[in-house]
Amino acid sequence: MIRYGWTKVTLLYDTNLNLKLLQPILQHTAAASSGFIINLKQLKPEEDEDYRGVLKEIVANEGENIVLSCDLEILFTVLNQAQQIGIVTGKQNWILTNLDAHTADLSPFKYDYTNFTLFRLIDPGNPFVYRILGEIVEEEIRMGRSLDFVDFSGGLKLDAALIYDGVHLLAAALGQLSNVQELQLQSLSCEDSSTQFWKHGSSIVNYMRATILPGITGPIRFDSYGQRTDFQLEVLQLLEEHGVVKVGNWVEGDGFNITGYHLESKPEPSTINPMFNKSLTVTTIFNDPYTMLKEDTKLLVGNERYEGFIPDMVHILSTILQFNYTLRIVEDGQYGSYDANTGRWNGMIGEVLTGEADMVVADLSITTSRAAAVEFSMPWMNLGISIIYQKPKKAAPSLLSFMLPFSDGVWIAMLAAFILVAFLTFFIGRFSPNEWFNPNFCILEPKEVETQWTFCNSVWHTVGALMQQGTEFCPVALSTRFLVGVFYFFTLIIVSSYTANLAASLTAEMLERPIENAEDLAKQTEIKYGVVYCGSTCNFFKTSTFNTYSTMWKFMSDNKDEVMVGSNKEGVEKVEAGGYAFMMEDAGIQYIVERRCSLAQIGGNLDTKGYGIATRPGSGFKDLLDSAILKMQENGDFHKLKNKWWKQKRGGGQCLQSASASVTKLDLANLGGIFLVTLLGCGLAGLVCILELIWGCYQDSQEFGTPWGFEIKQRIEFAYRCSSFGRKGRMASMRYKNESRMTSEGLSESSIDEPPKTGGVKRRNSYHIHYPGW
Ligand code: GLU
Repeated sequence: MIRYGWTKVTLLYDTNLNLKLLQPILQHTAAASSGFIINLKQLKPEEDEDYRGVLKEIVANEGENIVLSCDLEILFTVLNQAQQIGIVTGKQNWILTNLDAHTADLSPFKYDYTNFTLFRLIDPGNPFVYRILGEIVEEEIRMGRSLDFVDFSGGLKLDAALIYDGVHLLAAALGQLSNVQELQLQSLSCEDSSTQFWKHGSSIVNYMRATILPGITGPIRFDSYGQRTDFQLEVLQLLEEHGVVKVGNWVEGDGFNITGYHLESKPEPSTINPMFNKSLTVTTIFNDPYTMLKEDTKLLVGNERYEGFIPDMVHILSTILQFNYTLRIVEDGQYGSYDANTGRWNGMIGEVLTGEADMVVADLSITTSRAAAVEFSMPWMNLGISIIYQKPKKAAPSLLSFMLPFSDGVWIAMLAAFILVAFLTFFIGRFSPNEWFNPNFCILEPKEVETQWTFCNSVWHTVGALMQQGTEFCPVALSTRFLVGVFYFFTLIIVSSYTANLAASLTAEMLERPIENAEDLAKQTEIKYGVVYCGSTCNFFKTSTFNTYSTMWKFMSDNKDEVMVGSNKEGVEKVEAGGYAFMMEDAGIQYIVERRCSLAQIGGNLDTKGYGIATRPGSGFKDLLDSAILKMQENGDFHKLKNKWWKQKRGGGQCLQSASASVTKLDLANLGGIFLVTLLGCGLAGLVCILELIWGCYQDSQEFGTPWGFEIKQRIEFAYRCSSFGRKGRMASMRYKNESRMTSEGLSESSIDEPPKTGGVKRRNSYHIHYPGW
């Protein structure tokens, strides 16, 4: 409005949201010097989409400059009715604020000589936007879906474009975050009123804010408040001959710039796709199953000579990006490393840099140093370094194989549980008054009482319980029964677990595993190990500061001639010959173990990286290759190719025997619970025993009129000293059951404490205690 020099303007809006869009104009005019007249009107249909009433008021006010802020759905109707009442003529200037206004059919108004100004966020003339739009339209047609989100000029509607860019930004942020931490998915309900949230949410938002991406709506970039910055709007006008055309642009910060109209021509294919129709040289390297020589009875020439994952992949890329290619095998047989002495790169990287080849498509790892020299596409396969070695051999049967079901910890814990329960049975049996009973039922007032819980009996009873055999004597008191009951339960669980795991371990093959991971390799020197000299795996060890890997590198470099090899094939042959482990990328290992059944991958991956396509910096191929790789991933091409070259062709699937089951020892983590239950049971049994003791002594004190404390003291003293205890006029001797040796050792009657009287209740005959020992 300022640029057009308007001083009087009518602002037309339909909804509150569209009024809000006009707010900056209102604020500006309020602040500006006087003389700026604003006429604000809401478009309210009088009946069934009839806005003529409001529009007539504009005629009455002689409004010539009109800003229309309304939804796309009513835009055409409003303009149509405005035309009918005569305010779409050569005298009026209209500004349409809706960023999708150019997608409405404005052709009926182009002969009215009205000055219409429109804005849009999408620039369909931009090669990037043009290519993406083409792909989207193609895809939608292929899927038979409607194209109603596409506007007349072949662009997208704003919502669709923003969603497209938003999803790509989210994908990019997720990709970056997953490179630094493992993302765990979590189900969250939107209805859930709880305060649950996804722990990665805020990190993803931060990554989204920090990411800069090319998008359909221009470069996607945010300020620290999360507001889109650095975007620009195209300024459009409606012309009689050409309809809606671009006449300039509005750039944030720079403002409005009208350059005059130019017609948007379809961009040249070569500006959209610099690879279009070009003949490119693709360098690669022999490595099964990536690139191999084709076996044929005929003499083959050109690209026909090669087969494998890479030739197939290059073929698909060439159809997507429409280029011609010649495959070339790298001359020096190297992947590419930097020689500090000559200051040059060798191998495939060197060939791309010198211009002998246009790109490298091979199992070439993306590394920081290589990425500084050449331009890499996004990774098309992810992998890591791992160890290949001979399959574990069958171990000779062991004499101690009966120990296998449990770990050492469980065996020790079992022994401890056994000792604890044996001792507790002995002590509780002694302390609990209910375990002492009259050996002769004919004598009403016995001189002797006896218990069955000698130390030997206690141990033997516990052995019987553990072996699930039992003994002929049984606990009588509640405390001992409780204790023994818990131990029976313990035994039940332990014996069942042992039996189940023993059966499994006897049927499973025991395997000898001399090495299980890189640490095992580093610790020994008997088994030699090496890598391809000197690809990315070799460089990984060379530059690693991690102790294990630097030790391994020292060994490998000291024995370079013996352990380093020229190719994976050579390394694998050395492994087969024996006494040698080879470190290579796990994708290659998977291929080999499918075919050479005596070999296996050992341990996990030592790192993570990806294979990428390398191109000369500035060639402009990177973006195209990225989008083609994405397309291949979406189509499942990589999956199909991997299946074909790994599992089907050239003897795949030879080693498909079912993996032999291995038995894992049950350890305390599996059985800890039952030990805990037993321990608790022991504690409870002790508690019950104390209650029994207290109750028994209370009854005695009532019966004999002695103080209760005295009774407790007497009983504990007896149980503790394992010596006689007695009192005149009360019990007879106490002895263990089945004791044949009945001597009168122990306390003589004279040495027995005379209990203090508490108003005697009943007196027994004098008695002596006899304790025959254990
Ligand atoms: N892919 C590796 C590279 O690009 C070659 C093989 C290896 O080093 O294990 O250097």
